[in-house]
Amino acid sequence: MELTGLKHKFEELFGKKDYTAFFAPGRINLIGEHTDYNGGNVFPCAITLGTYAVAATNDLKQVRLYSENFPEAGVISFDLADLDHKKADSWANYPKGMLRYLKEAGHAISEGMDMVIFGNIPNGSGLSSSASLELLMGVVLDNLFNLNAERLELIKTGKRVENEFIGVNSGIMDQFAVGMGEENKAILLDCNTLEYEMVPVELGNHAIVIMNTKKRRELVDSKYNERRSECEEALAKLQTVVSIGSLGELDEETFEKAKAVLESDVLYRRARHAVTENQRTLKAKAALQAGELEAFGQLMNQSHISLRDDYEVTGIELDTLVQAAWDQPGVLGARMTGAGFGGCAIAIVEKEAIPAFIENVGKTYEAAIGYPAEFYIAEISDGAKRL
Ligand code: ADP
Ligand code: MG
Repeated sequence: MELTGLKHKFEELFGKKDYTAFFAPGRINLIGEHTDYNGGNVFPCAITLGTYAVAATNDLKQVRLYSENFPEAGVISFDLADLDHKKADSWANYPKGMLRYLKEAGHAISEGMDMVIFGNIPNGSGLSSSASLELLMGVVLDNLFNLNAERLELIKTGKRVENEFIGVNSGIMDQFAVGMGEENKAILLDCNTLEYEMVPVELGNHAIVIMNTKKRRELVDSKYNERRSECEEALAKLQTVVSIGSLGELDEETFEKAKAVLESDVLYRRARHAVTENQRTLKAKAALQAGELEAFGQLMNQSHISLRDDYEVTGIELDTLVQAAWDQPGVLGARMTGAGFGGCAIAIVEKEAIPAFIENVGKTYEAAIGYPAEFYIAEISDGAKRL
């Protein structure tokens, strides 16, 4: 199912041949995990796995949405005048939230619209299908209604939908990567200032392999919130001895000098991850720019170890995949990507070695965990756009 199928579906459902096509990518984070809400750096890129839409305005004052990924939900429709979150509207709450907040911000959206979508990002696997859907709706509305919205406004609106409309307490990285991505470039983003730099990703004879644990999603939100409050607690204690606004402002040396105020080993390790991961991210960006791919891979490995031992957000599934990847020839580095506790990991693998890599890592994983992992080759894509 790609665009042709979507167009047919649109004609079948809405009886019109006049429509525009759009795409929004998913994302992976190369390094810089759990640093966004600590005011640190992240280094994500948009990927060619993503969400497609065909859409057109209607004159019904109604929004009608259909997803090929949720055919059992049928066409979900709601009135332009009633944009409250409704459980029964299931996945359509993401686009509804975008519409609501953009309207509230003063954008003139006074007609209805029809849209059919399809995504090839595995949902709930940490590749940010939700941010993809939010930014997809953002560019659809921007184009259909000539909003002339700044890209950053769509990004911030997507984050607000996630936080306030859906109720997921996430940082801005996902929407930023999906909104700002460029082909073959990663984005070094300072989550404190939103300053960013586009960095070419030249991997030579290597490619990025995404490894999906396929682990059922559980505990992610509660553990995520627990880590956030642990970091807040650590920050408050550190602020009694150093003048900082976030953990991201600390270098390793200052942190080690100040650590005594943390008192607990758990808080120390959580904060140490935030501090060292932020520094690793800056080093990784410099290594990539200098073409030092081995150093880049080593930093990825250290990132995973820190997430495993200090931050404790990996789990047996991600650790098994990453360890199996480290054991393979032709691998520069591997780490979990996204929030953790399941979801996906990434590895940078020599292209020629990829078939054997997938077979061997797949076998090891299935033997240890009891069900198979999935693998995708990631190409680095543009951000959300009209096609
Ligand atoms: P992730 O962002 O890690 O993929 P989330 O749980 O945050 O996982 O978002 C997944 C949800 O986003 C799905 O349950 C669904 O509601 C919505 N979604 C994502 N992609 C699509 C799609 N192609 N069609 C309909 N809904 C989608
Ligand atoms: Mg999500």
